[in-house]
Amino acid sequence: MAENILADALTRLATIANQLNISKDTLQALSQPLCTLTCYVSIRKDNGKTAYFNAYRCHYNNLLGPTKGGIRFHLDVDQSEVEALALWMTLKCAAVNVPFGGAKGGVAVDAKSLSALEIERLSRAYVRAMADFIGPDTDIPAPDMYTNERIMGWMMDEYQTITRCKSPSAFTGKPLIFGGSSGRDTATGTGAFLCIEALASKLDWQRNKKTVAVQGFGNGGAQCAKLLQQAGYKVVAVSDSQGAIYAEGGLDIKSIEFKKLHSKQLQAVYCEGSVCELIEHTKLSNQALLELDVDILVPAAIAGVITQSNAAQIKAKTIVEIANGPISAKADVILKAKNTLVIPDILANAGGVIVSYFEWCQNRQGMQWSEDKVAKKLSEYIHNTFEKAWSLHADGNLDMREAVYALALKNLSLAIEAHGTHD
Ligand code: GLU
Repeated sequence: MAENILADALTRLATIANQLNISKDTLQALSQPLCTLTCYVSIRKDNGKTAYFNAYRCHYNNLLGPTKGGIRFHLDVDQSEVEALALWMTLKCAAVNVPFGGAKGGVAVDAKSLSALEIERLSRAYVRAMADFIGPDTDIPAPDMYTNERIMGWMMDEYQTITRCKSPSAFTGKPLIFGGSSGRDTATGTGAFLCIEALASKLDWQRNKKTVAVQGFGNGGAQCAKLLQQAGYKVVAVSDSQGAIYAEGGLDIKSIEFKKLHSKQLQAVYCEGSVCELIEHTKLSNQALLELDVDILVPAAIAGVITQSNAAQIKAKTIVEIANGPISAKADVILKAKNTLVIPDILANAGGVIVSYFEWCQNRQGMQWSEDKVAKKLSEYIHNTFEKAWSLHADGNLDMREAVYALALKNLSLAIEAHGTHD
Protein backbone atom coordinates (compact mmCIF):
# COMPACT_ATOMS: atom_id res chain seq x y z
CA MET A 1 0.00 0.00 0.00
CA ALA A 2 1.11 3.57 -0.68
CA GLU A 3 2.74 5.11 2.37
CA ASN A 4 0.15 7.83 2.69
CA ILE A 5 -2.80 7.02 0.53
CA LEU A 6 -4.29 10.54 0.73
CA ALA A 7 -1.01 12.15 -0.34
CA ASP A 8 -0.90 9.70 -3.26
CA ALA A 9 -4.49 10.50 -4.24
CA LEU A 10 -3.81 14.25 -4.07
CA THR A 11 -0.62 13.92 -6.13
CA ARG A 12 -2.53 12.13 -8.86
CA LEU A 13 -5.34 14.71 -8.72
CA ALA A 14 -2.89 17.63 -8.99
CA THR A 15 -1.01 16.01 -11.89
CA ILE A 16 -4.19 15.38 -13.87
CA ALA A 17 -5.70 18.79 -13.01
CA ASN A 18 -2.55 20.59 -14.22
CA GLN A 19 -2.59 18.63 -17.44
CA LEU A 20 -6.26 19.53 -17.98
CA ASN A 21 -5.81 23.22 -17.06
CA ILE A 22 -8.31 22.94 -14.23
CA SER A 23 -8.68 26.20 -12.28
CA LYS A 24 -6.72 26.74 -9.09
CA ASP A 25 -10.03 27.35 -7.27
CA THR A 26 -11.23 23.83 -8.08
CA LEU A 27 -7.97 22.24 -7.06
CA GLN A 28 -7.91 24.24 -3.84
CA ALA A 29 -11.49 23.22 -2.98
CA LEU A 30 -10.44 19.59 -3.33
CA SER A 31 -7.09 19.89 -1.58
CA GLN A 32 -8.47 18.98 1.86
CA PRO A 33 -11.56 17.33 3.32
CA LEU A 34 -14.25 19.62 4.73
CA CYS A 35 -14.33 17.76 8.00
CA THR A 36 -13.38 14.40 9.50
CA LEU A 37 -14.88 13.12 12.73
CA THR A 38 -12.70 10.66 14.60
CA CYS A 39 -14.17 8.75 17.53
CA TYR A 40 -13.10 6.07 19.95
CA VAL A 41 -16.03 3.65 20.20
CA SER A 42 -16.44 0.74 22.54
CA ILE A 43 -18.54 -2.41 22.62
CA ARG A 44 -19.17 -5.09 25.20
CA LYS A 45 -17.72 -8.34 23.86
CA ASP A 46 -19.54 -11.65 24.24
CA ASN A 47 -17.08 -12.58 27.00
CA GLY A 48 -18.09 -9.50 29.04
CA LYS A 49 -14.89 -7.52 28.36
CA THR A 50 -14.94 -4.10 26.69
CA ALA A 51 -13.20 -3.60 23.34
CA TYR A 52 -12.27 -0.18 21.90
CA PHE A 53 -11.97 0.84 18.26
CA ASN A 54 -10.94 3.91 16.25
CA ALA A 55 -13.83 5.03 14.07
CA TYR A 56 -13.90 7.69 11.35
CA ARG A 57 -16.30 9.53 9.08
CA CYS A 58 -15.02 12.05 6.55
CA HIS A 59 -17.09 14.58 4.58
CA TYR A 60 -14.68 15.41 1.80
CA ASN A 61 -16.73 17.79 -0.33
CA ASN A 62 -20.42 18.68 -0.66
CA LEU A 63 -20.53 21.05 -3.63
CA LEU A 64 -22.74 18.73 -5.67
CA GLY A 65 -25.05 17.50 -2.92
CA PRO A 66 -25.17 15.69 0.41
CA THR A 67 -22.02 13.68 0.97
CA LYS A 68 -22.16 9.97 0.12
CA GLY A 69 -19.95 6.98 0.71
CA GLY A 70 -19.55 3.64 2.39
CA ILE A 71 -18.38 2.55 5.82
CA ARG A 72 -15.67 -0.12 5.95
CA PHE A 73 -14.68 -2.43 8.78
CA HIS A 74 -11.02 -3.31 8.18
CA LEU A 75 -7.73 -3.26 10.08
CA ASP A 76 -6.10 -0.92 7.50
CA VAL A 77 -8.66 1.83 8.16
CA ASP A 78 -7.10 5.09 9.34
CA GLN A 79 -7.76 8.78 8.82
CA SER A 80 -5.65 9.04 5.66
CA GLU A 81 -7.37 6.07 4.03
CA VAL A 82 -10.86 7.29 4.87
CA GLU A 83 -10.05 10.77 3.52
CA ALA A 84 -8.56 9.41 0.28
CA LEU A 85 -11.62 7.20 -0.22
CA ALA A 86 -13.89 10.19 0.45
CA LEU A 87 -12.00 12.24 -2.16
CA TRP A 88 -12.54 9.42 -4.66
CA MET A 89 -16.26 9.34 -3.77
CA THR A 90 -16.38 13.09 -4.53
CA LEU A 91 -14.81 12.52 -7.94
CA LYS A 92 -16.87 9.38 -8.60
CA CYS A 93 -20.25 11.03 -7.96
CA ALA A 94 -19.21 14.07 -10.01
CA ALA A 95 -17.98 11.90 -12.93
CA VAL A 96 -21.17 9.84 -13.23
CA ASN A 97 -23.55 12.76 -12.64
CA VAL A 98 -24.99 11.59 -9.35
CA PRO A 99 -26.01 14.64 -7.26
CA PHE A 100 -23.92 13.79 -4.22
CA GLY A 101 -20.68 14.95 -2.68
CA GLY A 102 -18.11 12.53 -1.30
CA ALA A 103 -17.74 10.92 2.10
CA LYS A 104 -16.36 7.74 3.63
CA GLY A 105 -16.32 6.10 7.01
CA GLY A 106 -14.66 3.20 8.69
CA VAL A 107 -13.65 1.33 11.80
CA ALA A 108 -10.17 -0.13 12.31
CA VAL A 109 -11.19 -3.68 13.17
CA ASP A 110 -10.55 -7.25 12.12
CA ALA A 111 -14.24 -7.81 11.41
CA LYS A 112 -13.92 -11.58 11.03
CA SER A 113 -12.60 -11.87 14.58
CA LEU A 114 -15.93 -10.63 15.99
CA SER A 115 -19.12 -12.64 16.44
CA ALA A 116 -22.33 -11.60 14.66
CA LEU A 117 -23.64 -10.03 17.87
CA GLU A 118 -20.39 -8.12 18.39
CA ILE A 119 -20.59 -6.81 14.81
CA GLU A 120 -24.14 -5.68 15.51
CA ARG A 121 -23.00 -3.86 18.68
CA LEU A 122 -20.12 -2.26 16.77
CA SER A 123 -22.45 -1.11 13.97
CA ARG A 124 -24.82 0.44 16.47
CA ALA A 125 -21.96 2.02 18.47
CA TYR A 126 -20.63 3.58 15.25
CA VAL A 127 -24.00 5.19 14.54
CA ARG A 128 -24.35 6.45 18.14
CA ALA A 129 -20.98 8.18 17.75
CA MET A 130 -21.73 9.60 14.28
CA ALA A 131 -25.49 10.27 14.45
CA ASP A 132 -25.14 14.07 14.39
CA PHE A 133 -22.75 13.86 11.45
CA ILE A 134 -25.01 11.81 9.12
CA GLY A 135 -28.54 12.21 7.76
CA PRO A 136 -30.60 11.87 4.58
CA ASP A 137 -29.90 15.45 3.45
CA THR A 138 -26.37 15.79 4.79
CA ASP A 139 -24.38 12.56 4.63
CA ILE A 140 -25.63 9.14 3.55
CA PRO A 141 -23.56 6.03 4.39
CA ALA A 142 -23.60 2.71 2.51
CA PRO A 143 -21.77 -0.64 2.59
CA ASP A 144 -18.09 -1.02 1.75
CA MET A 145 -15.43 -3.64 2.64
CA TYR A 146 -16.70 -6.02 5.35
CA THR A 147 -20.01 -4.19 5.70
CA ASN A 148 -23.17 -5.37 4.01
CA GLU A 149 -26.94 -4.97 3.91
CA ARG A 150 -27.40 -6.66 7.27
CA ILE A 151 -25.05 -4.13 8.85
CA MET A 152 -26.81 -1.25 7.07
CA GLY A 153 -30.09 -2.54 8.51
CA TRP A 154 -28.69 -2.41 12.07
CA MET A 155 -27.22 1.02 11.45
CA MET A 156 -30.43 2.44 10.06
CA ASP A 157 -32.40 0.96 12.94
CA GLU A 158 -30.05 2.59 15.46
CA TYR A 159 -30.21 5.90 13.61
CA GLN A 160 -34.01 5.86 13.63
CA THR A 161 -34.06 5.02 17.34
CA ILE A 162 -31.79 8.00 18.09
CA THR A 163 -33.64 10.48 15.86
CA ARG A 164 -37.13 9.10 16.70
CA CYS A 165 -37.98 9.45 13.05
CA LYS A 166 -38.34 7.06 10.13
CA SER A 167 -35.73 8.11 7.58
CA PRO A 168 -34.87 5.20 5.29
CA SER A 169 -32.97 7.50 2.92
CA ALA A 170 -30.32 8.08 5.63
CA PHE A 171 -28.61 4.81 4.56
CA THR A 172 -28.36 2.94 1.28
CA GLY A 173 -27.55 -0.70 0.64
CA LYS A 174 -30.20 -1.69 3.20
CA PRO A 175 -32.23 -4.91 3.24
CA LEU A 176 -35.09 -4.75 0.73
CA ILE A 177 -37.69 -4.90 3.50
CA PHE A 178 -36.28 -1.68 5.02
CA GLY A 179 -36.47 0.20 1.70
CA GLY A 180 -33.38 -1.22 0.00
CA SER A 181 -33.25 -1.25 -3.80
CA SER A 182 -33.35 -4.33 -5.95
CA GLY A 183 -30.06 -4.66 -7.79
CA ARG A 184 -28.02 -2.77 -5.17
CA ASP A 185 -26.10 -5.86 -4.00
CA THR A 186 -24.97 -6.71 -7.54
CA ALA A 187 -24.56 -3.11 -8.77
CA THR A 188 -20.79 -2.68 -8.30
CA GLY A 189 -19.85 -5.83 -10.21
CA THR A 190 -22.49 -5.20 -12.85
CA GLY A 191 -21.21 -1.65 -13.43
CA ALA A 192 -17.67 -2.98 -13.95
CA PHE A 193 -18.97 -5.67 -16.32
CA LEU A 194 -20.82 -3.02 -18.35
CA CYS A 195 -17.55 -1.07 -18.68
CA ILE A 196 -15.76 -4.20 -19.95
CA GLU A 197 -18.58 -4.89 -22.41
CA ALA A 198 -18.40 -1.27 -23.62
CA LEU A 199 -14.67 -1.78 -24.23
CA ALA A 200 -15.38 -5.05 -26.02
CA SER A 201 -17.59 -3.31 -28.55
CA LYS A 202 -15.21 -0.35 -29.01
CA LEU A 203 -12.23 -2.65 -29.56
CA ASP A 204 -14.04 -5.46 -31.38
CA TRP A 205 -13.04 -8.11 -28.88
CA GLN A 206 -13.85 -11.75 -29.42
CA ARG A 207 -14.98 -12.53 -25.90
CA ASN A 208 -14.08 -16.22 -25.87
CA LYS A 209 -10.49 -15.27 -26.76
CA LYS A 210 -10.14 -12.96 -23.76
CA THR A 211 -8.68 -14.26 -20.51
CA VAL A 212 -9.42 -12.54 -17.20
CA ALA A 213 -7.94 -12.62 -13.69
CA VAL A 214 -9.98 -11.17 -10.82
CA GLN A 215 -8.25 -10.31 -7.55
CA GLY A 216 -10.81 -10.36 -4.73
CA PHE A 217 -14.00 -12.41 -4.49
CA GLY A 218 -16.10 -9.97 -2.51
CA ASN A 219 -19.37 -8.49 -3.68
CA GLY A 220 -17.92 -6.60 -6.69
CA GLY A 221 -15.30 -9.11 -7.87
CA ALA A 222 -17.53 -12.19 -7.65
CA GLN A 223 -20.44 -10.59 -9.49
CA CYS A 224 -18.23 -9.20 -12.25
CA ALA A 225 -16.43 -12.57 -12.67
CA LYS A 226 -19.77 -14.37 -12.93
CA LEU A 227 -21.16 -12.00 -15.56
CA LEU A 228 -17.92 -12.16 -17.56
CA GLN A 229 -18.01 -15.93 -17.62
CA GLN A 230 -21.68 -15.94 -18.64
CA ALA A 231 -20.84 -13.56 -21.50
CA GLY A 232 -18.14 -15.93 -22.77
CA TYR A 233 -14.91 -14.51 -21.35
CA LYS A 234 -12.44 -17.03 -19.92
CA VAL A 235 -11.98 -16.22 -16.22
CA VAL A 236 -8.77 -18.11 -15.43
CA ALA A 237 -8.00 -16.87 -11.90
CA VAL A 238 -9.82 -15.53 -8.84
CA SER A 239 -8.61 -14.89 -5.31
CA ASP A 240 -9.46 -13.74 -1.81
CA SER A 241 -7.31 -12.74 1.16
CA GLN A 242 -6.13 -16.37 1.57
CA GLY A 243 -4.68 -16.64 -1.96
CA ALA A 244 -5.63 -17.32 -5.57
CA ILE A 245 -6.71 -20.26 -7.73
CA TYR A 246 -5.86 -20.66 -11.41
CA ALA A 247 -7.13 -22.89 -14.24
CA GLU A 248 -5.79 -22.38 -17.74
CA GLY A 249 -9.05 -23.56 -19.32
CA GLY A 250 -11.20 -21.24 -17.17
CA LEU A 251 -12.89 -21.52 -13.78
CA ASP A 252 -16.55 -22.26 -13.10
CA ILE A 253 -17.36 -19.04 -11.24
CA LYS A 254 -20.98 -19.91 -10.51
CA SER A 255 -20.04 -23.03 -8.60
CA ILE A 256 -17.27 -21.22 -6.69
CA GLU A 257 -19.77 -18.54 -5.71
CA PHE A 258 -22.36 -21.14 -4.75
CA LYS A 259 -19.90 -22.98 -2.52
CA LYS A 260 -18.67 -19.76 -0.98
CA LEU A 261 -22.20 -18.59 -0.16
CA HIS A 262 -23.06 -21.98 1.30
CA SER A 263 -20.02 -21.89 3.54
CA LYS A 264 -21.82 -19.19 5.51
CA GLN A 265 -23.25 -20.26 8.85
CA LEU A 266 -26.91 -19.39 9.41
CA GLN A 267 -26.51 -16.33 11.65
CA ALA A 268 -23.04 -15.30 10.42
CA VAL A 269 -22.43 -11.86 8.95
CA TYR A 270 -19.68 -13.03 6.56
CA CYS A 271 -18.93 -16.12 4.44
CA GLU A 272 -16.43 -18.44 6.11
CA GLY A 273 -14.69 -20.35 3.32
CA SER A 274 -11.84 -19.21 1.11
CA VAL A 275 -12.02 -19.72 -2.67
CA CYS A 276 -8.73 -21.61 -2.25
CA GLU A 277 -10.37 -24.35 -0.19
CA LEU A 278 -13.56 -24.78 -2.16
CA ILE A 279 -12.38 -26.48 -5.34
CA GLU A 280 -9.16 -28.29 -6.25
CA HIS A 281 -7.14 -25.98 -8.55
CA THR A 282 -3.61 -24.68 -8.98
CA LYS A 283 -2.87 -22.28 -6.12
CA LEU A 284 -1.17 -18.92 -6.60
CA SER A 285 -0.34 -15.99 -4.38
CA ASN A 286 -2.31 -12.76 -4.81
CA GLN A 287 0.89 -11.15 -6.07
CA ALA A 288 1.34 -13.85 -8.74
CA LEU A 289 -2.29 -13.40 -9.86
CA LEU A 290 -1.60 -9.73 -10.62
CA GLU A 291 1.34 -10.70 -12.81
CA LEU A 292 -0.47 -13.41 -14.83
CA ASP A 293 -0.29 -13.22 -18.61
CA VAL A 294 -4.00 -12.46 -19.08
CA ASP A 295 -5.82 -9.95 -21.30
CA ILE A 296 -7.88 -8.30 -18.57
CA LEU A 297 -6.87 -7.83 -14.94
CA VAL A 298 -9.56 -6.85 -12.44
CA PRO A 299 -8.15 -5.76 -9.07
CA ALA A 300 -11.23 -5.98 -6.83
CA ALA A 301 -9.72 -6.28 -3.35
CA ILE A 302 -7.75 -3.58 -1.56
CA ALA A 303 -5.93 -0.34 -2.38
CA GLY A 304 -2.30 -0.03 -3.43
CA VAL A 305 -1.73 -3.52 -4.88
CA ILE A 306 -0.05 -2.20 -8.06
CA THR A 307 2.80 0.14 -7.19
CA GLN A 308 6.07 1.24 -8.75
CA SER A 309 7.63 -1.99 -7.47
CA ASN A 310 5.44 -4.38 -9.50
CA ALA A 311 3.87 -2.21 -12.25
CA ALA A 312 6.55 -3.19 -14.78
CA GLN A 313 5.70 -6.88 -14.22
CA ILE A 314 1.98 -6.48 -14.99
CA LYS A 315 1.30 -8.21 -18.29
CA ALA A 316 -2.42 -7.53 -18.76
CA LYS A 317 -3.09 -4.94 -21.46
CA THR A 318 -6.37 -3.89 -19.82
CA ILE A 319 -6.96 -3.22 -16.11
CA VAL A 320 -10.42 -2.57 -14.69
CA GLU A 321 -10.30 -1.18 -11.15
CA ILE A 322 -13.18 -2.51 -9.03
CA ALA A 323 -11.25 -1.83 -5.81
CA ASN A 324 -10.83 1.79 -4.84
CA GLY A 325 -7.26 2.93 -5.51
CA PRO A 326 -5.59 -0.38 -6.44
CA ILE A 327 -2.96 1.43 -8.59
CA SER A 328 -0.66 4.04 -7.05
CA ALA A 329 0.05 7.37 -8.79
CA LYS A 330 3.63 6.30 -9.57
CA ALA A 331 2.44 2.98 -11.02
CA ASP A 332 0.08 4.97 -13.32
CA VAL A 333 3.12 6.47 -15.04
CA ILE A 334 4.74 3.05 -15.61
CA LEU A 335 1.51 1.54 -16.94
CA LYS A 336 0.85 4.51 -19.21
CA ALA A 337 4.31 4.15 -20.74
CA LYS A 338 3.44 0.50 -21.51
CA ASN A 339 0.14 1.57 -23.11
CA THR A 340 -1.94 -0.35 -20.57
CA LEU A 341 -5.59 0.65 -20.82
CA VAL A 342 -6.95 1.36 -17.32
CA ILE A 343 -10.65 1.84 -16.60
CA PRO A 344 -10.39 3.85 -13.38
CA ASP A 345 -12.12 3.01 -10.11
CA ILE A 346 -14.26 6.13 -10.16
CA LEU A 347 -16.01 4.76 -13.25
CA ALA A 348 -15.46 0.98 -13.01
CA ASN A 349 -16.88 0.65 -9.48
CA ALA A 350 -19.42 3.49 -9.72
CA GLY A 351 -22.34 1.06 -10.16
CA GLY A 352 -22.62 0.80 -6.37
CA VAL A 353 -23.14 4.48 -5.71
CA ILE A 354 -25.30 4.90 -8.81
CA VAL A 355 -27.79 2.32 -7.50
CA SER A 356 -27.41 3.83 -4.01
CA TYR A 357 -28.64 7.06 -5.59
CA PHE A 358 -31.62 5.18 -7.09
CA GLU A 359 -32.32 3.71 -3.64
CA TRP A 360 -32.25 7.18 -2.07
CA CYS A 361 -34.63 8.44 -4.80
CA GLN A 362 -37.00 5.49 -4.24
CA ASN A 363 -37.03 6.12 -0.46
CA ARG A 364 -37.84 9.78 -1.00
CA GLN A 365 -40.60 8.90 -3.47
CA GLY A 366 -41.92 6.20 -1.14
CA MET A 367 -41.69 3.78 -4.06
CA GLN A 368 -39.90 0.58 -5.03
CA TRP A 369 -38.59 0.33 -8.59
CA SER A 370 -38.58 -2.97 -10.49
CA GLU A 371 -35.35 -4.88 -11.04
CA ASP A 372 -35.62 -4.11 -14.76
CA LYS A 373 -35.94 -0.39 -14.20
CA VAL A 374 -32.89 -0.34 -11.91
CA ALA A 375 -30.85 -2.40 -14.40
CA LYS A 376 -31.84 -0.19 -17.33
CA LYS A 377 -31.04 3.03 -15.51
CA LEU A 378 -27.73 1.68 -14.19
CA SER A 379 -26.73 0.80 -17.74
CA GLU A 380 -27.70 4.32 -18.92
CA TYR A 381 -25.56 6.02 -16.27
CA ILE A 382 -22.51 3.81 -16.90
CA HIS A 383 -22.79 4.10 -20.69
CA ASN A 384 -23.28 7.87 -20.66
CA THR A 385 -20.11 8.35 -18.63
CA PHE A 386 -18.17 5.70 -20.54
CA GLU A 387 -19.08 7.22 -23.92
CA LYS A 388 -18.16 10.77 -22.85
CA ALA A 389 -14.85 9.58 -21.42
CA TRP A 390 -14.12 7.43 -24.46
CA SER A 391 -14.59 10.38 -26.82
CA LEU A 392 -12.17 12.49 -24.75
CA HIS A 393 -9.76 9.55 -24.81
CA ALA A 394 -10.13 8.99 -28.55
CA ASP A 395 -10.01 12.72 -29.48
CA GLY A 396 -7.08 13.83 -27.45
CA ASN A 397 -4.17 12.21 -25.75
CA LEU A 398 -5.94 11.56 -22.47
CA ASP A 399 -5.89 8.10 -20.99
CA MET A 400 -9.19 6.81 -19.58
CA ARG A 401 -8.35 7.85 -16.01
CA GLU A 402 -7.57 11.39 -17.14
CA ALA A 403 -10.73 11.45 -19.26
CA VAL A 404 -12.99 10.38 -16.37
CA TYR A 405 -11.24 12.85 -14.04
CA ALA A 406 -11.86 15.53 -16.69
CA LEU A 407 -15.61 14.83 -16.54
CA ALA A 408 -15.61 14.96 -12.73
CA LEU A 409 -13.51 18.12 -12.51
CA LYS A 410 -15.67 19.86 -15.10
CA ASN A 411 -18.81 19.32 -13.01
CA LEU A 412 -17.05 20.32 -9.81
CA SER A 413 -15.64 23.47 -11.49
CA LEU A 414 -19.13 24.43 -12.68
CA ALA A 415 -20.43 24.04 -9.13
CA ILE A 416 -17.58 26.12 -7.74
CA GLU A 417 -18.26 28.90 -10.25
CA ALA A 418 -22.00 28.76 -9.54
CA HIS A 419 -21.45 28.93 -5.79
CA GLY A 420 -19.24 32.00 -5.93
CA THR A 421 -17.30 32.78 -2.79
CA HIS A 422 -18.56 32.03 0.68
CA ASP A 423 -17.71 35.32 2.38
N1 GLU B 1 -18.73 1.77 -1.02
C1 GLU B 1 -19.12 1.96 -2.37
C2 GLU B 1 -18.09 2.78 -3.13
O1 GLU B 1 -16.93 2.84 -2.74
C3 GLU B 1 -20.54 2.51 -2.50
C4 GLU B 1 -20.78 3.82 -1.85
C5 GLU B 1 -22.25 4.23 -1.80
O2 GLU B 1 -23.09 3.52 -2.30
O3 GLU B 1 -22.51 5.27 -1.21
O4 GLU B 1 -18.35 3.31 -4.15
